[in-house]
Formats: sequence, structure tokens, C-alpha cells
Amino acid sequence: MPVPWDLPAPEAGPVVRPNAAGLGRSELGLLLTSLGESAWRGGQILSGLLRQRWTRWEQFSNLSKPLRARLESEVDLIWPVIVQSQPSADGSTKHVFDLRDGRQIEGVHMPYEDRVTLCLSSQVGCAMGCTFCATGQMGIIRNLSAAEIVGQVVSMLEHHAHPQDRPVNLVFMGMGEPLHNFAHLMAAFETLTDAEGMAIPPRRITVSTSGLVSGIDLLGTFARRPRLALSLNGTTDEDRSRIMPVNRVWNLEALAQALGRFPLQSGERITIEYVLLKGVTDRQEDGRRLAAFARRFPAKVNLIPFNPHEGSGFEPPEEARIGALCRLLSDAGLPVSVRRSRGQDVAGACGQLVRGGQSRHPKSH
Ligand code: SAH
Ligand code: SF4
Repeated sequence: MPVPWDLPAPEAGPVVRPNAAGLGRSELGLLLTSLGESAWRGGQILSGLLRQRWTRWEQFSNLSKPLRARLESEVDLIWPVIVQSQPSADGSTKHVFDLRDGRQIEGVHMPYEDRVTLCLSSQVGCAMGCTFCATGQMGIIRNLSAAEIVGQVVSMLEHHAHPQDRPVNLVFMGMGEPLHNFAHLMAAFETLTDAEGMAIPPRRITVSTSGLVSGIDLLGTFARRPRLALSLNGTTDEDRSRIMPVNRVWNLEALAQALGRFPLQSGERITIEYVLLKGVTDRQEDGRRLAAFARRFPAKVNLIPFNPHEGSGFEPPEEARIGALCRLLSDAGLPVSVRRSRGQDVAGACGQLVRGGQSRHPKSH
């Protein structure tokens, strides 16, 4: 039986004018060549866009005046626009971005002492249909373009007047399954890590997947790639298949094997994310099976107490359960952390990123 993620997700509509925002260095080079300029100037534009965060051609003081005028008349410079920002008591801010087709996505800015972590969306909606996840309930609407992924970073950093030298971590833990939007994800990764642009080190970028084995294997073939996190969330095939339909295609054994053959750099670990659902995934036996799963390859475990949302039918775990599981896992020799969800009071914590009023089938069939 075909499953939704066997099919490519729909793409953004056709582009009428080129948009330089979000293009990689080589694409910018091609664009410049088509204007009769040298391709190497692509690096200058990338630097202006991502390092200086210039948003108007007239600001590009590293380009000649005639070239700026030419770009002004022929090339757009459009990032996704932040239309709403909700600060939370813990210092994080949930941002709503408006895309050019009226769709909306969300991203979260989380400042820490030594860095800023940005939680990014990769798709509008999600095809994976996990039952505990608000985004999963929307279904898939479309992929984000590379520009829309990179744009979340630029717009959030600009909004918060981020200083150039402060490290930035990126986590693809917002809306969507990043490995279901593989090509645009990797194009965005190339742009964000480019030395002439923001130069974010690849190890500061983490892609979280629900367990698309085909995507994990493909990611493993790239020498330069983001780090990998797997959302496990279930420790028997029966339990996991019930809450994560992808498990009916690639079960726990297939997943463990894929993670076991994923080529890691020295010291690198795969993050196992594990959402604690009261009475469903937070039992002591779950902890034991989770430990056994995570010991099959270099891993660290991140326990995520469920963030409740309207109509999910699940509840967050009790504090005592979180503590007990945390101890069990560290006694088993695994590095373990508990993700105290940030932004919970503004519905910006993971798994709560859903935009109201969007449906998979705008016109019902
Ligand atoms: N689609 C990818 C990345 C986005 S979801 C994935 O599933 O990994 C990011 C994380 O949020 C995943 O670990 C997911 O299991 C978790 N999550 C989803 N809904 C949640 C909720 N309501 N409460 C807590 N975590 C949730
Ligand atoms: Fe999609 Fe991740 Fe939500 Fe599952 S948990 S529906 S894969 S966003």
C-alpha cells in the first residue's frame, strides 16, 4: 500500500522573477553569469545576504553601482517575513513566518548563555502522521524551498540583532520531516555552512527524523552533512507503529541497523529523542528497551516530556517517571538529558508547531 511519504511533497509555486535570497554560492554565480557578470561575485552577494544580512540591493556596498541598479531591476531579494513574534517567559520567542503563497510556518529562537539555538521548519505540515504531534495532524501541504529554510535563520537573527560572533545552533525540529524534503534541506545546509556566508559549522546543525531509513542512508553518503537525531518514541514495534505510522514501513530493527551503519565521525553520537507520553511510553520496561536500542551505536538520549495540545488524547508524564527513566538510562551508561521544553506558554515547544486555518485539502474533494 502506498504511504504518503513515498510520494514527493508538493513544491512551492513557479518563480516569476529570480530571488537571490536563499540561493547558494554557485546558484548566485550562475545568476550573475546570466547578467554578464563574473560568477565569483556570487560569494560577495552571499556574504552581503547572510553575513551582513542586507535586505536591499542598494546596501550592497561591495558591488558596483551599475550592478546594484541592474540587480534592483531584475532580481528580487525576498525573505520569509516574520508576521508575529511571541516571546515566552523563559526567553525564547516563537516566530510566525508568512510565505509568499499565504502559507505560514513557525520557528523558535532560543538564547542560551554561550549560543543561540534556532528551531526550524522544513515543510508546511507533515506527511508522517504521528498521532501525538500537532503538525502531523495537518497532513502535508508542501515542502519549503531552500530559500524558505535559510530565510528563517536570517530573519530570526536579524529580528534579534544577533551579533556576528555568537555561535548559532540549528535544529530541524519544527514543522515537517526534514528527510522528506531532502534536496532542499541539503541545499539550505550548503548555503548556511558556506564559508563566505554565515559559515555555521556542520556539527552545529542537527536534523531530526522520525525514522525514514531511505533518507538516513542517503544522508550517510554525504561527507559534509548535519548531525542526526532520531525520534524513537516507542520501544516495541506494536507501540511505535501505533503512534508513528512510519514504523509500519521501517520497524525498530530496520532502524537500528540503519543507525548502526550510519558513518559517524570520531566522538559523534546520534541523538535519540524520546517523547514521554504518560502511561504509553514512560514505563520502566520502555526505559530498559530504550537503553538496549540506544546501546547498539554511539548515542545520547534526550527525553522530551510531552507538550500537551488540544485534542491530542495524550498526557505529559509525572515528574517522578521522568526522574526514574533518566536514572535508568544513565545507569545503563548512556548520556541522557531532559528537554525542558522552551516556549511552552506560547505553544512554541516542539510538536506544538501548527498553524491554525490550514488544511491539507483547501477545497474538499
Ligand atoms: N519530523 C521530525 C522533526 C520535527 S518533530 C521528527 O519527528 O523527528 C521534532 C521532535 O518533536 C520529535 O522528536 C518529535 O517526536 C517531538 N514531538 C512532536 N510532538 C510533540 C509533542 N506534542 N510533545 C513533545 N514532543 C513532540
Ligand atoms: Fe512529522 Fe515529526 Fe510530527 Fe511525526 S513528530 S508528524 S515526523 S513533525
